[in-house]
Amino acid sequence: MSVSLLPEFLRLTRQQWESQDRLDEIRLAKLRRQVTRAWELSPFYRERFEAAGFHPSQLKTLADLSRLPITSRTDFIAAGERAYCSDVDIRKCVFAKSSGSSGAPLTRRDKAHRVLKELRALQASGFKFTDRMMILWVPRATINSLPILQRLGILRRYYATVFADESEQLAGINAISPEALYTYTSNFRILAEAILSDGLPAPRPKLLITSAELLDQETRKLIARAFGTDPVDYYGSMEVGWIAWQCPERGGYHINSDCLIVECMKDGQPVATGEEGELVITNLHSDAAPLIRYSLGDTAVLSDRKCSCGRTLPLLEVLSGRMADYFVLPGGKRLSPYAVTSILRDVPGMRRFQVVQDSDVAVTVHVQATPQAPDVQTVQLAVQGALSPDFSVTVDYMESLPRDPSGKFNIVKSMVAADPSKVGRKVA
Ligand SMILES: [Zn+2]
Repeated sequence: MSVSLLPEFLRLTRQQWESQDRLDEIRLAKLRRQVTRAWELSPFYRERFEAAGFHPSQLKTLADLSRLPITSRTDFIAAGERAYCSDVDIRKCVFAKSSGSSGAPLTRRDKAHRVLKELRALQASGFKFTDRMMILWVPRATINSLPILQRLGILRRYYATVFADESEQLAGINAISPEALYTYTSNFRILAEAILSDGLPAPRPKLLITSAELLDQETRKLIARAFGTDPVDYYGSMEVGWIAWQCPERGGYHINSDCLIVECMKDGQPVATGEEGELVITNLHSDAAPLIRYSLGDTAVLSDRKCSCGRTLPLLEVLSGRMADYFVLPGGKRLSPYAVTSILRDVPGMRRFQVVQDSDVAVTVHVQATPQAPDVQTVQLAVQGALSPDFSVTVDYMESLPRDPSGKFNIVKSMVAADPSKVGRKVA
């Protein structure tokens, strides 16, 4: 292990309470290191910095970061190993993979830092080092764990596949009886529905960790009712790890701002505090593959509100989701998926559903119904009321709704490309 874990963990624990000035000093020092490494060791970033007329010596303040170009996921993937730092042996790295991409390499130090960052967030919600965590995820996906600590009975993690059916997953959880349970929000929802509708035995972990998908209020309540405790939600990406997290106050998501820099942009310009924009991330702890002004494709709002817990790590509000999840209205305006899902969930007889936007004016609703299935017209009117009466709505009743290959269950899918600048304001 190339980093000394305990001192770094203590540092992270302390930093969540530091003054803004002190946090900015820490961020600037780390940013200089990342940008200099990228300039010296990554041909991809060197070219882009030069094209922008930028040299690392010009990085005097955090605001100077805005002189650097924004990198899209597509640019980054296309660059392949040219984006990586040449002093790192990629063969010794692990890859944080997401569905559909080969992922970003992590050195052992990068990986250890991710674990520490997660641990700080979990500790805020009462997680103890000796607690067992069960993770229901995609088989073979890279999940952060430190085997050396697990052998000592610390941070013990148990993995199971998210593709098993509900009863099998619940039996697996009950067999281990973990203190913490971590899975996709949509999988928690599926398990909660099985517990409440089919009377399957409910596990009782003290900590439920939802991640990787939107957690709306209705889903939060459903999960709490089934498992007997309120979930705590985390926001992250495979490339960066955990970006922001809820403390026990549940008032927004604390950004790991001592470990990464989050910008909120629209049309290439930062939006005002409180306005929704696309998230652009600079990871301050990636030795193998620098992520500098990396566009995640997610939208959110940066807040200047202070959390009542007293932590100084700033808050991210309204995680309104990945751009791909938005509906596109005639004229190109985007509409939050909540606008439709919150209405469909109130339709009696729905067990599960998925809404697919097929074209500018057509959607299909796949419905897995209870024995009291809603009729076609009820579903059509609900969707038209939320989107527009101009939409043609096909209702497709199914025995069960399959998951995506990623293991997630996307309630909303759009097959319509849209202009990201036309993000809808309506967020339920
Ligand atoms: Zn807080």
